[in-house]
Amino acid sequence: MSSDPNCIFCKIIRGEIPSKKVYEDDEIFAFHDIQPVTPVHFLIIPKLHLPSLAEAGPEHSAVLGSMLAVAGRLAREQGATDGFRTIINTGRVGRQEVYHLHMHVLGGSDPLGPMIIRRG
Ligand code: AMP
Ligand code: ZN
Repeated sequence: MSSDPNCIFCKIIRGEIPSKKVYEDDEIFAFHDIQPVTPVHFLIIPKLHLPSLAEAGPEHSAVLGSMLAVAGRLAREQGATDGFRTIINTGRVGRQEVYHLHMHVLGGSDPLGPMIIRRG
C-alpha cells in the first residue's frame, strides 16, 4: 500500500498533520520527533507506507538505502557533528509504537547513553 489513510505518518507526509520538516525528496521524508529524547532527534521515513522493517523485502532496498545514505548529512546539519545513533524499533518486541517504518536519528548529547540497558 503506497499510502494509508489512517496512518499518522502518512498524514504527516500529506501535510494533513503538521510537522517540523527536516528533509524531503521523492521517496523519503524527515521530521523532528514530537517528544525528543536527545537534543537532536528526528525521524526518517519512506513516503511509501511500509508498516515495519519486518515487512521489508528486496523491493525496498533502494528506499532503505536512501534513508541510511542521507542520515549523516542531516544529522550534521541538525547539530550532531560528532556522531549519532540510528534506531529502528520493529514490532511488539522492538516496542514499535507507530506502524509506519521510521528510523530515529539521535544525537547532540555527548556521549549518548548506553544502547540498551544490560540486565543483571
Ligand atoms: P517508535 O516507538 O519507534 O514507534 O517511535 C515512534 C516515535 O514517533 C516516538 O518517538 C514519538 O514521539 C514519535 N511521534 C509520534 N507522533 C508524532 C508526531 N505527530 N510528530 C512527530 N513525531 C511523532
Ligand atoms: Zn503510513
